Amino acid sequence: MTQTISSIDELKENLTLFEDYLCDGDEQEREEVEKLITRGKCLVSYKIEDSWRFAPSRYIGYFQNNLEKHEANYYIINGGVTNKAIDKIAKNKLSENPYLESEYISYCKELGITPSNQKRKFWLFDFENEDFENNRVTNEGFPEGKLVERIHRNRERNSALIEQAKKKYQEENDGRVPCQVCEFDFQKEYGEVGKDFIEAHHTIPVSEMPNGYKTKIGEIVFVCSNCHKMLHRKRPWLKITDLKKIKALANREDGR
Ligand SMILES: [Zn+2]
Ligand SMILES: [Zn+2]
Repeated sequence: MTQTISSIDELKENLTLFEDYLCDGDEQEREEVEKLITRGKCLVSYKIEDSWRFAPSRYIGYFQNNLEKHEANYYIINGGVTNKAIDKIAKNKLSENPYLESEYISYCKELGITPSNQKRKFWLFDFENEDFENNRVTNEGFPEGKLVERIHRNRERNSALIEQAKKKYQEENDGRVPCQVCEFDFQKEYGEVGKDFIEAHHTIPVSEMPNGYKTKIGEIVFVCSNCHKMLHRKRPWLKITDLKKIKALANREDGR
């Protein structure tokens, strides 16, 4: 028999791995976890750093679960059993909740996934002031934690506004898209394969955007991959002008 979770710590352990898949997993792992989130009917909602995240009962309710186990146990997985286990450790009952439903929808949107069309119920957990592994500084230097990084990157990749901003930037630069910090030009360095390539960076962190916030074109800057990483290394994020100064100083000290 497959054992269910019996404590908050065991729940957190599962949530940590679940988020790891979502942020650092290979493509297949990410897809699996995305499916689990979009198809979940009974969801654990957990609040960290002011934002709600979600994970489905039928995965998160089994003791030390992982995707391999989840797949191997596919035919014996029973949402009724995990629901009971989670009920025991939750402070509130599983129930419909319009507020969490709308938070769930925007969470999916931020992750770039589409929720399935069905009724959902939620438990609430608050890990606001606790040390949650996925919220620690990542080695990529993303001080808000891995999940925020994934959400931020998703925004920077898929948005009509970014396309618009890029077009404008390109027009202002005779069709080129040089880095706004170091002027690195992918086309100049890599020829045809680098044509039109540049990364977009939102200067306002997702964590500072109130619900329903609309990004403006002027908040998007274009930087090479190296400068993009450097911008994200400090909290609050460095500004383009700061990074330019830092770079000039370092280059001068280096005798360049
Ligand atoms: Zn650069
Ligand atoms: Zn960025």
